[in-house]
Amino acid sequence: MVIYKTNEEIELIRKSCLLVCETLAHVGSMIKPGSTGKSLDKAAEEFIRSNDALPGFKGYRNFPATLCFSVNEVVVHGIPGDKELNDGDIVSVDCGVFMNGFFGDAAYTFLVGEVDPEVVDLCVATKTSLYLGIEAAVAGNRIGDIGAAIQDFTEKTHHYTVVKDLVGHGVGRNLHESPEVPNFGKKGKGLLMKEGLVIAIEPMINLGVRNVYQSKDGWTIFTRDRKPSAHYEHTIAVKKAQADILSDHTIIEDAIKKNPNLTDISEKR
Ligand code: MG
Ligand code: MG
Repeated sequence: MVIYKTNEEIELIRKSCLLVCETLAHVGSMIKPGSTGKSLDKAAEEFIRSNDALPGFKGYRNFPATLCFSVNEVVVHGIPGDKELNDGDIVSVDCGVFMNGFFGDAAYTFLVGEVDPEVVDLCVATKTSLYLGIEAAVAGNRIGDIGAAIQDFTEKTHHYTVVKDLVGHGVGRNLHESPEVPNFGKKGKGLLMKEGLVIAIEPMINLGVRNVYQSKDGWTIFTRDRKPSAHYEHTIAVKKAQADILSDHTIIEDAIKKNPNLTDISEKR
């Protein structure tokens, strides 16, 4: 069942999404070669709790951490650990918070130090595809229009592959609500979108093959060929003319610009 939100509820979801982005900015201000997922996860949890909110992922189906920390060939759902980041790594950091009865959800892939140009391009294209998906998320369009926009750009314009095993989702009083929001699909197919629909759009795009597998930890999703994967996510509210983006990556990108250990791709398309 799809739960449509009132404007008041959308404003509460926006608050949760902005705290997610502030948390990701806090994390982004600290990332450097040598950082561990575990230390960044601890900082993120403290930051969220100091803002009178709860980590949205911790304990969700027994997930053990505040952040999903997914390095290079890890697509999503990586568990923050003791392994140190290296110069040239990319890391998707996905975060959720729960505040005022509503979840917020957003993710950003950070580029640590000097990253292979081929992988920089993957990140730029994945981020661009997110905005193309958001452009398609207007009242009167269908869910398939979002996936078609993302897939056309990443697979036809570029020769990347869309992960099909994991999808975006509704956001509200639950972290994952209906409908599913695939990053692939056909124009004109799927649920008709109406105002009040709040969804997370989150393309996961691979440099190599689309196939993925889950590690024996029960969470971590790897690319089958171990080539890198990028992931960017916004939570948006569907409106008539254009979607209202409830999360805000510019908060994160301001932190990236101030951190000499990260490569800033915010101006690239
Ligand atoms: Mg997320
Ligand atoms: Mg999500």
